[in-house]
Amino acid sequence: MSNYSVIQVSPETLKKMQKFYQKELKPTSPPHSLFAAKKKGLTITAYQSGKVMFQGAEAATESQLWSKQSITTQMPAPKSQVLPQGFESWSVLGSDEVGNGSYFGPVTVCATYVAAEQNKRLKELGVKDSKMLKDPQIMQLAKKIKQTIPFRLLTVSPLKYNEIQPNYNVNHMKAVLHNQAIYLLLQDIAPEKPAGILIDQFTPEANYRTYTKDESNQVTEKLYFVTKGEQYHLAVAAASIIARAAFLEELDHASQEIGFKIPSGAGKNVDEVAARILQQGDLALLGRYAKLHFANTEKAKKLTRL
Ligand code: MG
Repeated sequence: MSNYSVIQVSPETLKKMQKFYQKELKPTSPPHSLFAAKKKGLTITAYQSGKVMFQGAEAATESQLWSKQSITTQMPAPKSQVLPQGFESWSVLGSDEVGNGSYFGPVTVCATYVAAEQNKRLKELGVKDSKMLKDPQIMQLAKKIKQTIPFRLLTVSPLKYNEIQPNYNVNHMKAVLHNQAIYLLLQDIAPEKPAGILIDQFTPEANYRTYTKDESNQVTEKLYFVTKGEQYHLAVAAASIIARAAFLEELDHASQEIGFKIPSGAGKNVDEVAARILQQGDLALLGRYAKLHFANTEKAKKLTRL
């Protein structure tokens, strides 16, 4: 159970594998997976991305069979990614945040609760990794998810962010927000309790626990941390979609307020828009829309001097 091996294979090998394990295929497989198979204490899960996960005593031996056939590197799976078997169908409270890599716009954090029996409904709605969805789809889907499952959404406006950021590092801020969204949602759904709480990981677990230890509402139990959490439970996928929709909505409001389109991201186009705002006003005006500690601020200042 504790043995674990992940390999990356080519699409051709993936096809071969699916054929090879045909007789051992499981009737259902986790979100975004191509197939899952079970043989003699070994579980094999293949993802569309070409990632194949082997779990069980023979994980290393079995995975080597395939990694030799494909030009692959064997990747050690971080311990945090070891979720209990069947986790994807548990009743899970999941959380994710959006916006911390974007110069403009807020940071939004969302927690959702997906009871085991709601998993199917969310799949039917089309809930999946938000990176695979276009913005209009995200907006529509967010609306439907909000009508279907309990959630908590927290938004830190750029103004608030600029106030907090000098005193907190960003991961500390995010940890506190995740904890708060989770805590509030746990209150909402009580007396029902999730079997697990899955946090889309942005910092090592030990840091998360340190960052939240002074919170009066610290949630400490049943926590699981995994990067790309949306691939491991629909609760994180749903949280990510709601958070992303809220972020996009805020950018939209900001664009309307200022009279031109405010983009997401932190690229060159962002510097130009920031310079335009500086030309209209001052740093205080920019601070209503942007996270000022980003390098984009200095670049925008330079642009206004040209
Ligand atoms: Mg995330």
